[in-house]
Amino acid sequence: MTHTRSTFFILLFLTAFAVCTTRAHAGEQICAFHDQNGEMVVKPKKEVPYRFKKFARCIDANKSNYLAKPDEITLQGNVRREDISTSLGRVELRWPRSVEQMFGRTPLRAVTDAARTVSRSLKTSGFPPAVQNLDAPWKIVFLDAKLSASQIPHQLISACHPGWMTAPANVYIVAQRVSEGCGGSQNRRSASIADAQLTEILLHEMGHVVEYYMLNKRRLGDRARAEGFATWFEIHSSQFSSLLSQSRIRSRTFDLARRGMRGGSRKFRGSAEDYAVASMIFSVIADRRGVRGIADAYELMNKKGLRFDQAVKEATYLGREQIEKDSAKLLK
Ligand SMILES: [Zn+2]
Repeated sequence: MTHTRSTFFILLFLTAFAVCTTRAHAGEQICAFHDQNGEMVVKPKKEVPYRFKKFARCIDANKSNYLAKPDEITLQGNVRREDISTSLGRVELRWPRSVEQMFGRTPLRAVTDAARTVSRSLKTSGFPPAVQNLDAPWKIVFLDAKLSASQIPHQLISACHPGWMTAPANVYIVAQRVSEGCGGSQNRRSASIADAQLTEILLHEMGHVVEYYMLNKRRLGDRARAEGFATWFEIHSSQFSSLLSQSRIRSRTFDLARRGMRGGSRKFRGSAEDYAVASMIFSVIADRRGVRGIADAYELMNKKGLRFDQAVKEATYLGREQIEKDSAKLLK
């Protein structure tokens, strides 16, 4: 329990920390503490009131963007390491044994199974040859409660994200967030639900790697496009998983998209609703032109240096208005 509460504290800290970083200067320290009302507050060290200094937890502001490679991340306790050959290439996998109790299956089985699911999905449905036979140098790490603030940047852990990916094929999974969601240990999920959740997150993160390879190993800045693709890929590939129900994932994503569109403002800020809204363009293209339509747009981005929306229009003849009309129809 204390164990979990301290994770939650660190995650909260890192999340709140993100908001504050812009105000901090290089060399400065950023601190998190609970104020007199028990609220989490994050401030540069010099602004922390004297009476809270003793309880504040601080990290170097200039270190906050550093992300260690999965194989460099320090894991506590008994650590297992596996070097496996999967249908998507070789995977170097590490996890602390402590995370095993959160799931019904070991990380080794979960990763092998997710790789098989992604590979099946890539081989059967109009993806370009470069990703159909994807052979990436995967490094995957499962993190437990003891996240190292000096090795993981705040923004990657913000917004309750249970996993993330960096190029070319580095995947980080925060096990507690998968098994408990964002509410702490009282929401601990059953092993089978946690296994399904983990599979879904792995499909999402592997989707980012698929997109990276579809972009000729480039990472373009547009976060809405990247998260939209990975969210759509989660739905798309879930049909090849024995643990997941595609219709359930689709309807949950569509519910979120409906909610996200209701607000009016559609600027991508990284919420679950934003991810869902951003995925709708991919669902529309796949519905009208098949996965081939998405692959064609990415090819045009690579060949002509077009922006995503320009490439979609040129490759699929679906303009913005048409896409909005079609997504409204899908969401009905
Ligand atoms: Zn993502």
